Amino acid sequence: MSRTTAQPIRFAQRMSSIQASPTLAALNRATDLINRGIDVVDLGPGEPDFATPVAVCEAGKKAIDQGYTKYTNVLGSNALRQAIAARYNRRYKTKLEMGNIIAGTGGKQELFNLMLAFVSDGDEVVIPSPYWVSFPDQVSFAGGRPVFSLTERADHFRPTLESIAAVTTSRTRGVILNSPCNPTGAVMTESELEKIVEFCHNRGLFLVFDETYEFFVYEGRHVSAIQWFEEFPETISVVSSMSKTFAMTGWRLGYAVAHPSVISALGKIQSHSTSNPSSIAQAAAIDALGGDDSQVRTMFEAYSERRAWLLPAINRIPGIRCDPPDGAFYLFPDVRGLYGSGEVRDSSSLATYLLDRANVAVVPGLAFGDDNAIRLSYATSLDRLKEGIRRIEKAAAELG
Ligand code: PLP
Repeated sequence: MSRTTAQPIRFAQRMSSIQASPTLAALNRATDLINRGIDVVDLGPGEPDFATPVAVCEAGKKAIDQGYTKYTNVLGSNALRQAIAARYNRRYKTKLEMGNIIAGTGGKQELFNLMLAFVSDGDEVVIPSPYWVSFPDQVSFAGGRPVFSLTERADHFRPTLESIAAVTTSRTRGVILNSPCNPTGAVMTESELEKIVEFCHNRGLFLVFDETYEFFVYEGRHVSAIQWFEEFPETISVVSSMSKTFAMTGWRLGYAVAHPSVISALGKIQSHSTSNPSSIAQAAAIDALGGDDSQVRTMFEAYSERRAWLLPAINRIPGIRCDPPDGAFYLFPDVRGLYGSGEVRDSSSLATYLLDRANVAVVPGLAFGDDNAIRLSYATSLDRLKEGIRRIEKAAAELG
């Protein structure tokens, strides 16, 4: 072969088991239009529109000024791990210690590391569907097979033991739950979660519980699997994040709470990939976790107000139907009533239609395993939401 002939790039086999995050792909398309000067109402992103609280930013700046800019312990600094444990202990009367905590570069990293630590080739992992986009790919990347248990729209998409047990086999290695759920907003009830915890324990399955949206619950209350941790420490691993609660998506800081042996397994993986999360983000997180949550409540109130406006507004659009989601900051309406007219036949073509014709960005439900829905984020100002709904209404009417 001559020096000028291009060599094919050969990727490892595992690359064919995953795809780029479809929510990021939708985001990129909208950004592309925005960069071309088009006024897009962006209801795509899963990211608070609020700034990180000022005091938290100040703590980050202070860390830089004081030279807190070096490697820390791979698992996170002692001070941060103690702050995370203390916050759980305050809220849930748990008896967590630093040894139960690892901090990483976003909750995503700890979820990824948990799959690498727990899942062997051919293992099955049960994920209630609709699901957050990264869960199945993380399982596949670890060599496992995602198996979906169905949830019902009529039941607010809440996972049930019955639906999980129905797909559990001898190859099942664990279950991933996400409450409040992205994209459906489903919030698990205490009684159902307890049944699933016991089921996992009795079968020797792991239970990974992702509570990234724990502070955004509008109906009912948030129940954390951590409340059964003392009883079942070998079964339960909880993941959460600074991203949504404290509007700190860009700081990249999340954490896992688990048995000390699980924490050291996650630490082993992390020590060969990213090592510790940013020392500056860690310092900022300590400030946020020790605060009085007043800013979190302000954000929650804004989301509540938007949700209250948005629900009746979207339900007035013929062809769209949306029950009130219990938590998170998304609507996941049934849009089948719009299918079959013009170029719109599924959630992807509807999202493309809305972006091209109405300049409104939404995420197709297919990305979350449900082609009958689209996801709209209300982590954007009420004014922009009103404009977005006005545009969707007009574009929907033009379809008919
Ligand atoms: N879990 C869920 C359900 C999410 O929606 C997200 C982010 O969108 C994450 C985990 C990860 O968040 P981060 O990596 O920013 O902490």
